[in-house]
Amino acid sequence: RRLYMRIEFESCSSNEAFARTVVAAYITRLNPTLEELSDVKTAVSEAVTNAIIHGYESGPGSIFMTCNIHNNDVEIEIEDFGVGIADIDKAMEPLYTTRPEWERSGMGFAFMEAFMDEMRVESEVSKGTKIYMKK
Ligand code: ATP
Ligand code: MG
Repeated sequence: RRLYMRIEFESCSSNEAFARTVVAAYITRLNPTLEELSDVKTAVSEAVTNAIIHGYESGPGSIFMTCNIHNNDVEIEIEDFGVGIADIDKAMEPLYTTRPEWERSGMGFAFMEAFMDEMRVESEVSKGTKIYMKK
């Protein structure tokens, strides 16, 4: 079964709620529990927020969300073409944030890891960042 979908949207803050709603609608066909639904929405929300506030900190750009359903699992990719991450291991440490002055808590990646079964980060400075998640 291949049930691919891909959307492109602008990195404005209202699109964080939009992406969360789209992914919820997309996975409805898997009859997720409320907990599974909430976990996926939270993870997408964290990844999209990161693309908006960190990836495109210096100006707006495009975010792609790609989803695929495969054997009752959902695979989600959130991709931006922004500033990228120099040290991915460091960025993924719980409580690590480059933006303490914005009152970020540095928990986004930790939540994505906790709420999804698999999570990977690919990033290149000045090229962008791609988050792969599976549940
Ligand atoms: P919180 O998510 O708790 O509000 P945060 O966004 O700083 O705080 P994480 O989501 O864990 O914490 O991200 C850690 C750090 O990784 C960020 O502070 C930022 O430096 C970097 N980062 C994360 N996503 C991206 C991205 N898409 N592009 C560039 N840098 C990113
Ligand atoms: Mg974050």
